[in-house]
Amino acid sequence: MGRVILFVLMFLSAVGVHAQRVPYTKEFNELQCALATCFLEFEQDPLPADTTAAWLRWKTVSNYAFGKNRGNLLMIADVDALHPHFRELVKTLIAQCKAKGITLAVVESYRTRAKQNEYRAMGKKYTRSAGGSSKHQYGLAVDVVPMVDAVAVWDNLALWRKVGTTGEKLGLRWGGRWRHPFDPGHFEWTQGLSAHQLAQGIFPQLNAKQDTTGIQHELQRLSAYWKAWEAEQATVARQTQR
Ligand SMILES: [Zn+2]
Repeated sequence: MGRVILFVLMFLSAVGVHAQRVPYTKEFNELQCALATCFLEFEQDPLPADTTAAWLRWKTVSNYAFGKNRGNLLMIADVDALHPHFRELVKTLIAQCKAKGITLAVVESYRTRAKQNEYRAMGKKYTRSAGGSSKHQYGLAVDVVPMVDAVAVWDNLALWRKVGTTGEKLGLRWGGRWRHPFDPGHFEWTQGLSAHQLAQGIFPQLNAKQDTTGIQHELQRLSAYWKAWEAEQATVARQTQR
């Protein structure tokens, strides 16, 4: 059923019914630059090891109101903010897409509860998940967008399908299969764990070949950074609510 819907959407996309130009040219251009910078920097400038304020260096995309309100809080767009194993899968997805001629930019990686609650308050077309129940809050989900000639292409369903199937072959769950909301830029890796289990601190099992000690150590470090971001955005959220 999902496939049939996808094909219909791809057909509509091909005949141009779905295509629309974004009228907010200035904001749109700024977003392209921000996304392109995120993408380029993550390849060349890996985060330095343990420094207590390393979370402050995570790349963010400030929010642009080009036809879609993204709220007030910054979006964290750094793959270093992701679970170490999932991060490698995301990098592989980006590399494999690149080999197919598709450049992906990271729009949002880790997301605080404060940010998730902001989306939730903005309505169902953004998310149905409240703070704590999105996989982004555990570093296990990412949102990407294909870039064509330095322009983010949100509405090319044939392109999304190529990206989506590439991710699925890597074992990622793809939001392009969902309908509420249809979320083709979203990929997650949870090995079937529920948000409830994740909230209890349970992370997906790693296979025996992996450096579990190194990954556990990095997860501890990440947890501290996630908490720091949480505190930061909760403060900003309180200030903007006043
Ligand atoms: Zn997402």
